Amino acid sequence: MTQSTVHVIAHTHWDREWYMPFELHRARLVELLDTLIELMEREPRFHRFHLDGQTIILDDYLEVRPQMRERLTALTSSGRIQVGPWYILQDAFLTSGEANVRNLLIGHRHARAFGAVCKVGYFPDTFGLMGQAPQLLRQAGIDNAIFGRGVRPVGFNNTTVGAYDSPGSELRWQAPDGSTVLGVLLANWYHNGKEIPSEPQPAARYWTERIAAAERFAHTPHLLFLNGSDHQPVQTDLVAALDAARAQFPALCFVQTDFPSYLAALRDSLPEELPAIRGELRSQHTDGWNTLVHTASARITIKQANWRCQTWLEKAAEPLAAFAALSGSPYPRDLLTYAWKVLLQNHPHDSICGCSVDAVHREMFTRFAKSEQVATAVAQSSLAAISAQIDTTIFQACDPVALPFVVVNSSGWARSGAVKVEVEIGRQPIGPRPPEDRARLEALPADGYHVIDSVGQAVAATIEDLGVRFGYELPADRFRERYFARALRVTLAAQEVPALGYRSYALVRRAPAVAAARAPVLPFGVLENQFLRVEIGEDGTLRITDRRSGRAYAGLGAYEDVGDIGNEYMFRQAEGDQGRTTAGLPAQIALTEHSAVRTVYTIVHTLPIPQSADASLEREQRELVPLPERRAGRSANLLLQTITTEVTLEQAAASVQVEVRLDNQARDHRLRALFPTGCAPATHWADSIFEVVERSTTPGPEWRNPSACQHQQAFVSVCDEAGGLTIANQGLPEYEVLRDWRGTIALTLLRAVGELGDWGDFPTPEAQCPGTHTFRYAIIPNGGAGALGPAHGEAYQFQVPWLARQLPLQAGRLPPEHAFLRWTGEHLALSAVKLAEESDELLVRWFNMSAQPTRLELGPVAGVGSWCRSTILEQRADATDGGGSFAVRPAEILTIGGTLQP
Ligand SMILES: [Zn+2]
Repeated sequence: MTQSTVHVIAHTHWDREWYMPFELHRARLVELLDTLIELMEREPRFHRFHLDGQTIILDDYLEVRPQMRERLTALTSSGRIQVGPWYILQDAFLTSGEANVRNLLIGHRHARAFGAVCKVGYFPDTFGLMGQAPQLLRQAGIDNAIFGRGVRPVGFNNTTVGAYDSPGSELRWQAPDGSTVLGVLLANWYHNGKEIPSEPQPAARYWTERIAAAERFAHTPHLLFLNGSDHQPVQTDLVAALDAARAQFPALCFVQTDFPSYLAALRDSLPEELPAIRGELRSQHTDGWNTLVHTASARITIKQANWRCQTWLEKAAEPLAAFAALSGSPYPRDLLTYAWKVLLQNHPHDSICGCSVDAVHREMFTRFAKSEQVATAVAQSSLAAISAQIDTTIFQACDPVALPFVVVNSSGWARSGAVKVEVEIGRQPIGPRPPEDRARLEALPADGYHVIDSVGQAVAATIEDLGVRFGYELPADRFRERYFARALRVTLAAQEVPALGYRSYALVRRAPAVAAARAPVLPFGVLENQFLRVEIGEDGTLRITDRRSGRAYAGLGAYEDVGDIGNEYMFRQAEGDQGRTTAGLPAQIALTEHSAVRTVYTIVHTLPIPQSADASLEREQRELVPLPERRAGRSANLLLQTITTEVTLEQAAASVQVEVRLDNQARDHRLRALFPTGCAPATHWADSIFEVVERSTTPGPEWRNPSACQHQQAFVSVCDEAGGLTIANQGLPEYEVLRDWRGTIALTLLRAVGELGDWGDFPTPEAQCPGTHTFRYAIIPNGGAGALGPAHGEAYQFQVPWLARQLPLQAGRLPPEHAFLRWTGEHLALSAVKLAEESDELLVRWFNMSAQPTRLELGPVAGVGSWCRSTILEQRADATDGGGSFAVRPAEILTIGGTLQP
């Protein structure tokens, strides 16, 4: 029998903000790092400390103690304090694929500036792990993952409970593309070696118990002990405590160490056969009460704000800035990195999950606003730079005073849809008499305009006079200039705008030879185009017939309101609650717009719902009663909840867009929209991190929680061979596929609860989400195409904002219609277009949504010399020029770098 080695890794798990606001936690971090630095300088035998896998806490400390930079850097660069690889410890499912990549990219650069990156895939506390994590880690040169949750039950206050579905803490974890890492489950949590006694008797008891607990899961004689916990101060007598342990247990070898050394020792003695786990780890083989999945719906406005920020950065600012760079503009790399960093500061698991105290989440909205301001400014200035080069002289043939504008599609596929653009028909610098300047513009005729495309064809549009308004320019080389402008809002039916490209249009006074299409005549309550027919029922539910397949889906979009006596982490339906629904409840229905561009109906429901839980909930909260044991019901006092639903069918869309508005005044409840698909397959599909993942609709036999909600990114699909529905969302990351044999998708709009939960009594009145809300989603019939049909592309496009901008009549070197990058590849979804962080290389990232190999073909790109494979860390994966054609493995995340020609 080999001698066992007890590997003790000193660490702290640092939630930057959680049950206290950021600054209160940080004050303790400053004390901790002061103590640690002083201790390590004084005691060379305290030779390693793991700084929680996240580099941001270095900045958090040095912002307060800048004079400590040299002493801290001496310890990090010698490897005594181990930092990285992440910038922050994110929630894996509530942040986008790109956000997960940028977290590694920024964390690596940051750690390198402090000496070295700790190449450990560290997920100590993450609430479940995404299936593609092994591929992301492998692309970042990391061959391991250390994690605490996902494959075994973690109970209240992080106690391990019940059965465990891996027979050991070491395992092989494989991503859907086949990338594999050595996984180490912290089977006794990341605090199994905290507060080690140095007195003989307590030490003997401590080690006897802890070693037995570790040996229960260990495959080798290398036993891992983490000396630390949440915000745990440094154990300053650790060296003495380990000396005491050595004296008491001479047969064991005690070492204070770090993860890389532990992993190297572990690898040398691993058995040939290790348990293997594939794909995402979401605690599906547990009783379902401690998965923390309902953080996906806690404080939904945070998720929506995060969606907006990610979208502006990934789908607008970066691609447009990259296109502008192809046309010779400087790339605003530092601004974009700054916007990403501010956004990532909202991505730690206790932040984005919405499971902190109110003060934490109030601060988050300021960070979201900062990131969004930078991203939108970069998008607009990049669009201006591109616009300055588009040749619009072609429109002069139709009208010598034509008013051109450009419509940009930054999604990965050609796109049609209703696009809004504001076009000024006159502008007047503001002189000494502003009222006279206004009056000149007010006198301009605003009627008689038509929209044409660049070949002079009429385009269906609606035009609205916005009147005269104030504006200003900030020239690069002069003082600001203010003006009045008379503007029209044009909503046009843009057709086939090229992927990663644009089309130009113009407002003209001369009527085109062939008029634009007119709105079809339809009965009241019906919306119809070439793809779909939508009929609105008396109760406001929709019946959608997919004209491509003939299949109909009825009863869509009813609302369900139930009581929630849970907390920010978990939903728990109120005792005895049957829920309330708008199904069968008459609604007010009005036609809002009917044009050749789109048809819009407004539906208003008034649903009586209990105003809160009953009074016993407060006592159960104060008494820390676990959720499964709570008995609170709903209040008998009702309030009338008004829900306004706007249903839109665009002329060229194969989806129905829905916007829901309401003012929430009720507490302790959850509101969802329901979509019976009529399909009842055993599995369904959800968009996740670089993955469209197939999930079982019915959880495992151990599952006891009546609820089985899941995470999604852009969409969820329930379909069979002949059709089905995809529900796409904008920042609504929680769904459930009900086990009702109708394949009903339930989309959570709002979950209002009054306490944080977890280890204490932390009231959170703002998690009741009082006030006005707007939710957006789209219903997309699958067109009879089954799982990987066109609906998923439609759902991804629903994520991408249209951008448009007025242009002058000008000569330019870009044509009126153009694609900056042309690509084809079956089952590939575009994820990012950007310039590299450390070189002027164009980087484009896709992922293969399918389990089939496929091929990417790139067309020639003006300004790009050669193409080659890269990685998520933007390092060339091979030196050979792919010639624009690349084989793609199943589920591969593929980053291609293009060298910019000078
Ligand atoms: Zn944590």
